[in-house]
Amino acid sequence: MKVIKHSEQILKTALISKNTQLVKLYENLESREKCLLNEAFQPDSVLFRPITLHSESDWISSHPEPTQDFEQFYNDPYRSRPTSQKSAIYVQPIGSFGDTKVSTEDYMKWLKDYCEAFYYGLSVKILEPVPVSHTSCAFRVNEYTCNLQIHAGDLLKYLKKKKPEDAFCIVGITMIDLYPRESWNFVFGQASLTEGMGIFSFARYDSDFYSASYKGRLKRVKKLPSADYSVFDGYYTPVISSLLLLRSCKTLTHEIGHIFGLHHCQWLQCVMQGSNHLEESDRRPLDLCPICLRKLQSAIGFHIVERYQALLGWMDEDRSGMDAELRNEATMGLLKPVEAFKECREWVLKCLDVLQK
Ligand SMILES: [Zn+2]
Ligand SMILES: [Zn+2]
Repeated sequence: MKVIKHSEQILKTALISKNTQLVKLYENLESREKCLLNEAFQPDSVLFRPITLHSESDWISSHPEPTQDFEQFYNDPYRSRPTSQKSAIYVQPIGSFGDTKVSTEDYMKWLKDYCEAFYYGLSVKILEPVPVSHTSCAFRVNEYTCNLQIHAGDLLKYLKKKKPEDAFCIVGITMIDLYPRESWNFVFGQASLTEGMGIFSFARYDSDFYSASYKGRLKRVKKLPSADYSVFDGYYTPVISSLLLLRSCKTLTHEIGHIFGLHHCQWLQCVMQGSNHLEESDRRPLDLCPICLRKLQSAIGFHIVERYQALLGWMDEDRSGMDAELRNEATMGLLKPVEAFKECREWVLKCLDVLQK
């Protein structure tokens, strides 16, 4: 395992910069906010740790990219910025989500509330879910996994037509696997940053996806008639487990982060780290490092403490005092499955401790 350890000075410059105007901006932040952000360059910080590389197939080893510090982000003339007229984040669900226990509606509400806490101050709106047939996209059966896949670029074309006037961005999400072109095996997602659009699939975040018993495998179909979408009727989509919810929250906020102009983080462990495979993406934390947090704060303008409180509120949603009937519903899966967020919750509490000192 390799540790990417930057010096205090490098991290400090990445966060604050040496530009007088930006240093001044930093000095004008609330002192408790600076206390938390300064954790970025405390060598023994328990909140923010150096990135570790576990193999050659990890993102940073296999995709060398330039770094992006706060100053580069701040001065990037090409990044999209939310404005008072265009500030909403739209999410378009495509195809069905969940099994019989948890409806698409519940799951979408959890994702919406999570994104509203993460992008604190912006509103997140879920569009009415549409069946795959609505998008007129091409689809196929993947020859290795034998499951259905839909064409990512066609979905982007569909989203472009649907993007509302007040949208900062629109992202499509689906539980069906995606492919970008015939010759490719699959893709997790595809985005157009200049147009503020993206499409992402959570299909491969189901723990069972790569197993031979995956329920989405089609038994016999070889060639599908191109306009017959009935193959999607009742097609298997994974159960919404706590782990799947955690993975989807991470992916969605990471990808929307790119639309805000945040590049892959190479400073500290951070949700904006690139990831090449599921194990690596599970290793990344749920939230931002201080350098990326400052970028997002400058794009949106939230109070850091309020944002963490909102994240905690989402993870906490009170289950005590629930009556017997509701408790029964909990076992049916209608309450938010937050078990997988336990560690993240403890981490947010520690951040709030620093902010409330
Ligand atoms: Zn990325
Ligand atoms: Zn970061």
